[in-house]
Amino acid sequence: MKTQQAPDAILARFREVTQLPGVGKYRTEVLHGIGIHTVEDLLYYFPRRYLDRSTIVPMTRLDEHIDKTVTVIGRVTGIVTLGRGRKRLVVTLRDLVGSMDLVFFQGLQYWQKAFTQDETLAVSGVVAMYGRRPNMVHPSIDRLQDEETLEFINTGGIVPVYPSGAELERVGLNRHHGFRRLMHTALQHGLEGIVDPFASDDGAALRARQSLVPLRDAVLHIHRPPSLEQLEQARRRLVFDEFFALLLGIALQRRARAATERGISFRSESPSARALVSSLPFDLTASQRRVLREIAADMARPEPMNRLLQGDVGSGKTVVALLSMLVAVDNGYQCALMVPTEVLAEQHFRTIRALLGNTPVPVCLRVGQQAAAARASIDAAIASGEAAIVVGTHALIEDAVSFNRLGLAVIDEQHRFGVMQRAALRHKGLLPDVLVMSATPIPRTLTMTLYGELDVSVIDELPAGRKNIQTAIRFEEDRAKVHEFIRAEATRGRQAYIVFPLVTESEKIDLKAASTEHARLSSEVFREFSVELLHGQMQAREKEAVMNRFKSGRTQILVSTTVIEVGVDVPNATVMLIEHAERFGLAQLHQLRGRIGRGTEQGYCILMTDRAMLYGSAPNDEERAARSNARRRLETLRDTLDGFRIAEEDFAIRGPGDLWGTAQSGFPPLRIADLLRDGDLLRAARDEAFALVARDPHLRDPAHALLRDMYGARLRLAADASETA
Ligand code: ADP
Ligand code: MG
Repeated sequence: MKTQQAPDAILARFREVTQLPGVGKYRTEVLHGIGIHTVEDLLYYFPRRYLDRSTIVPMTRLDEHIDKTVTVIGRVTGIVTLGRGRKRLVVTLRDLVGSMDLVFFQGLQYWQKAFTQDETLAVSGVVAMYGRRPNMVHPSIDRLQDEETLEFINTGGIVPVYPSGAELERVGLNRHHGFRRLMHTALQHGLEGIVDPFASDDGAALRARQSLVPLRDAVLHIHRPPSLEQLEQARRRLVFDEFFALLLGIALQRRARAATERGISFRSESPSARALVSSLPFDLTASQRRVLREIAADMARPEPMNRLLQGDVGSGKTVVALLSMLVAVDNGYQCALMVPTEVLAEQHFRTIRALLGNTPVPVCLRVGQQAAAARASIDAAIASGEAAIVVGTHALIEDAVSFNRLGLAVIDEQHRFGVMQRAALRHKGLLPDVLVMSATPIPRTLTMTLYGELDVSVIDELPAGRKNIQTAIRFEEDRAKVHEFIRAEATRGRQAYIVFPLVTESEKIDLKAASTEHARLSSEVFREFSVELLHGQMQAREKEAVMNRFKSGRTQILVSTTVIEVGVDVPNATVMLIEHAERFGLAQLHQLRGRIGRGTEQGYCILMTDRAMLYGSAPNDEERAARSNARRRLETLRDTLDGFRIAEEDFAIRGPGDLWGTAQSGFPPLRIADLLRDGDLLRAARDEAFALVARDPHLRDPAHALLRDMYGARLRLAADASETA
């Protein structure tokens, strides 16, 4: 084996920051406070952004950049507080050609003390014009030291700006000067101690395949980019490494699990499934057939299946799930179908019973609201194995309902992703196969990371003959017309939903909004129709009765809070009117819209909102951002029906941390990688990591020594798992 570093170079990983010149007791403390202990930690503290001369706009050209984010550099020539009551601070900035204002409304006490006359600032923000004078409201500010300003302006170099904070500033580590100097020292003393895990022949081949620069170059250039191109190369390498670490961990875990867990090997041949397919009133789509093949092949393998079935609302996941369950049933096993709510359980139960028609497969419903005696006899049927397909809520596994021979668990997660209690399903030493269904399209980059332990099947087409839903944004002044439209649809025998948002802080107020509106609509606007109200605080039995009347067409208009969001299937409903649409998330809007257009009639989705909310001018930055996001959400929904595009847009607007609770899900924070932007690198890293683990599952090859070292903790976990097996 080749030696991979100079013998006397101390690995940056083991070298304490305290050992660096210029880092004394106080700085050490503050650095520890932000998680920097070793020189390597410090070198992996990346710039937040860069000042690049080519992106600086001279002040006389700002009017060409209205509503865009730009950077300007200038000298402070005036600081005044203006206005009575609501005061604002105006800082005048001047460059060689012109001047502009920086305006602050919030935190005035802080900002009034934040500037000094004549200092030089680089500011980035959204350009607005006040009359003919450009300004930026609450821009982000970088203070430039004179020498470096000169250097920067003269040489046109690319200058890194580090994330900073009050504590760091206090010990002289401001995001510019202080930090840059410290980083310079760290590079001098620590760069040599950075070891490239892809330095062996094997690793070099990988780097060549993926066109990755050596790690040391990457670390150097991310802090001191000689050119934009080299900066991009550096970033690419560091992003790849970040993804690779994540996916190598996932690959190792999957490998360990496959080696230890015993599952059921189902015969794919299923007369019941065959019979069901031929009795369906429609042909399966090509996508449905493809995912069925994937699922059947997976079920045939001896390892437990752990698969995510994705498909947009209305793509026909239920029948796919049912056919898969029939495979298990024909093999002599029981199946559980778990859904998020009792209303849905009920609905699925009925759908399945209707689909199975006169076949002898026993299906039962098991929910908490059943009378004790009924429940006891159902539980007995489940325990004896007599009940072949059991539909219920998650209580099916949580309440330890005991199955005789559970072979397949289908979990309709909708867009709630609980962590699956696989252990709870283990039964007589065998793990049943698990199929998780998701109606929320998840960007592929997220499934690869967040759900990396799952295999994925995607239904990516809708059944033929579905009419495209038309979506429109409407305002208060259009209300009369909107009501007329609903009246016309209802008169033609169609049905409509009118949905009110649910704001968690005050469910009562929302309920009031929905019920007041319901009273008005039923007694005034739509007097000639039957208008009913559905909300989450109703008894299950009441809810069911309301739903049944709507389903059967006795009710024409259903006023509701978001309880109807998930899974409700009434093909005759053609209108979805969403009130205060700006308050809903994009995924939620998409779900709601999925309630219509399920039959053969044209569907209409109307997003009711406030014109000023979307297009008015905002009083401050925060509000401006909120409004522009709301506008983006509604316009995205209006302009596309493609669930994957919607999911990616949602992802782009909200960021991964916020999405689907990834913040709480143990999803590792990404320092430099961006799941949306770096999808290609993620795929590349995944392929490389999985291929490597397939070749060398325990990373025993000496060429992988460094990787084994770096992923030691994860590997130990995986090894423990395989030893306890
Ligand atoms: P989802 O994927 O949202 O759960 P469902 O399984 O509820 O979708 O299916 C929506 C509707 O489409 C159901 O009424 C179902 O019977 C119907 N359906 C399913 N597959 C097809 C198909 N291949 N062709 C026509 N209709 C289908
Ligand atoms: Mg469904």
